[in-house]
Amino acid sequence: MSCSKSSRISKFESLFVEDQEKSLLEPADWGSFREEAHRALDIALDFARDRAKAPVWAPLPEYARNIEEGLPRSGAPLTTVVDEIQQRVLPHTLGNTHPRFWGWVNGSGTPSGIVSQLLNGAINANVGGRDHSPIYIERQLIRWMCELFDYPLDAGGIVCTGTSTATLYGLAVARHRTLGDDVRQLGNQDTRLVAYCSAQAHVSVSKAIELMGLGSDALRAIPVQDDFAINAHALAEQIVADRAAGLQPFAVISSVGSVNTGAIDDLQAINAICAEHHCWHHVDGAFGALIALSDTMRPRLAGIEQADSIAFDFHKWMHVPYSSACLLVRDREEHLATFATAHAYLKGENRGVAGGAPWPNDFGIDLSRGFSALGPWMLLKEMGSQRLGAAIERNCRQAAWLGEQVDAHPALERLAPVSLNIVCFRFVTGSIGADQLNRLNRHLVVELQCRGIAVPSFTRLNGNTAIRVCIANHRTTRADLAALIEAVPLLGEELLRAGGEPAAFELQ
Ligand SMILES: *Cc1c(COP(=O)(O)O)cnc(C)c1O
Repeated sequence: MSCSKSSRISKFESLFVEDQEKSLLEPADWGSFREEAHRALDIALDFARDRAKAPVWAPLPEYARNIEEGLPRSGAPLTTVVDEIQQRVLPHTLGNTHPRFWGWVNGSGTPSGIVSQLLNGAINANVGGRDHSPIYIERQLIRWMCELFDYPLDAGGIVCTGTSTATLYGLAVARHRTLGDDVRQLGNQDTRLVAYCSAQAHVSVSKAIELMGLGSDALRAIPVQDDFAINAHALAEQIVADRAAGLQPFAVISSVGSVNTGAIDDLQAINAICAEHHCWHHVDGAFGALIALSDTMRPRLAGIEQADSIAFDFHKWMHVPYSSACLLVRDREEHLATFATAHAYLKGENRGVAGGAPWPNDFGIDLSRGFSALGPWMLLKEMGSQRLGAAIERNCRQAAWLGEQVDAHPALERLAPVSLNIVCFRFVTGSIGADQLNRLNRHLVVELQCRGIAVPSFTRLNGNTAIRVCIANHRTTRADLAALIEAVPLLGEELLRAGGEPAAFELQ
């Protein structure tokens, strides 16, 4: 087969000549495209405004699961594609923008988040680096976050996809400080690094330790107290014992808002332990750290300003469109030393388009990265930190109120203190044993979800299955919570009557 230059050119020539002035991917008629785009915006706004009228969640119909249709080889008008989204996706969303969604920890979005996503699409910034305005929006956002947590204003920081990534990055910096620059070339070698967190820590902490090649055994789960916060004495003792056994303690990960119950570890005690034992203090503040937005709640974070790194999400309790999170590292130089590279083809002169060093890419691993700083930046500008803090305070007051309702109800039992925005409780009845009660409560949660009444999730606390209500939702009203308190005992009795044999409580 010949592949001469002339035959290659002749093969594509007609294509170039015919269309050389027009993009193949832009609308032929901007006027009608604009109309179609405005219609899509209206659909988005209607959906946001009316989401509460539909059930919070419903089991998916078959057509919404159908992924059989093959690769579209010729396209369809935008309107047709938007219609498909309207039919196939919008009626079958998770429900996290609905006032009765309290499962796991999810942000509920805001209408102006839709606008930020629109502008973001138009800008289409690659915020890995180079010298352009979006870089400075991200830097300003990071500075604001330093201000919020009383960090040095020139601390290191990066916007990431989630707290999972932010924690991985934070622990990588911790390891770099412990092992020095050699770690970049030689890896972990035969060091015996160990890290510590509470038994209530999020699974992302273990994943980070695994990914760093340390193995999950290198993460010690320290017992918690009755309030589900870490037992600081047990932590200190474990570190001393590990050191005596020849291991190398290098990091403690505290939970600020533990995922199960919202417990906040004693940051000052952990700071002191870390200082004594030369450990890095990384804060997993995925949702809880943002109580810093509330002046009345901020004192509960005392000591966070001394932590070495803080990971938290904008997409949870700040309701920024997914996904957007942040890592702050007190020692900017250490942060840079962990990730920065000096590839000749990327840099050389801090001037022109390739200027603006150091780049966000010098603080993490993504080179091409989206402009996820725009959402939180716009929301903070529009709402101000106080209003966002007030929404967080309201959720905590609602949780306290819900806890009181549980305590006042003879068929309900609270399973953990309400320390933040999470209420863990269960339906109780004297007529069945412990295992059956656990199955009944799991079944109850699934029924609440499937009937579209509300979406709590379940968890296990001290061996008991709990109905877990995490209120990180600015749309929730007290009436929504009252409806839950009414539904749970009724549903519990109904399932009990229908159940008969314990097997009936098995989850499908
Ligand atoms: C959600 C969560 C994480 C993980 O954050 P992502 O943004 O989902 O990656 C970590 N820790 C806690 C306490 C969380 O609630």
